Amino acid sequence: MYKTDQVDISIQKGMNQAHAGIETKYPLMEDFYTIQGEGVHTGRAAYFIRLAGCDVKCWWCDVKESWDSDKHPKVPTGDIVNRACKTDASFAVITGGEPLLHNLDPLTAALKESGLDVHIETSGSSPLSGYLDWITLSPKRFKEPMDEIFPYVDELKVVVLKNKDIEWAEMNAAKCPDSTRLLLQPEWDTPSSVELIINYVKKNPRWGISLQTHKFLGVP
Ligand code: SF4
Repeated sequence: MYKTDQVDISIQKGMNQAHAGIETKYPLMEDFYTIQGEGVHTGRAAYFIRLAGCDVKCWWCDVKESWDSDKHPKVPTGDIVNRACKTDASFAVITGGEPLLHNLDPLTAALKESGLDVHIETSGSSPLSGYLDWITLSPKRFKEPMDEIFPYVDELKVVVLKNKDIEWAEMNAAKCPDSTRLLLQPEWDTPSSVELIINYVKKNPRWGISLQTHKFLGVP
């Protein structure tokens, strides 16, 4: 778990909503209750919070509409957390865009204060912030991760189109703790990546495969 300034959120019991920064606003593309479709937590119900803004700009990105934060409403933390709490979710997934473009301290503190675990999916290219129970690092060569994130990575998930991406995956894995779960994920529109990954994982079984199961199942 990563905690801002290494402060344990549990010692902040009694933190009221003002402390949790419920007035802080975030550019929000969408938030919704769904099933986590990728990675170690595949198949679990989760409240997704997709923050807008991304300066990484992968050419194959499937959420390009998230890149410009000015095109999305600025929503108070309290509104997002209230919506999440109306569901039966046990954890929230903060994604983007690149969520670490924003200071996540207020949003993650409020989510945790409301009893939700907090997961993040990030390229790691901006400074870490927030109270995070699970960090999924999805590093991109277009803007490399900052070194500070590596000690806290729970799951390394690398999108693969070609061989070069597997080399990139190994370079990043070398910086992660031994406990990090290592996953290769085929790029959805590049079918040839599937065979590449299958062959690699069979020869290197410390890696696993992450599939975008929500796309197979048609889950939003
Ligand atoms: S980091 Fe994520 S949101 Fe940003 S361009 Fe790449 S895939 Fe898209």
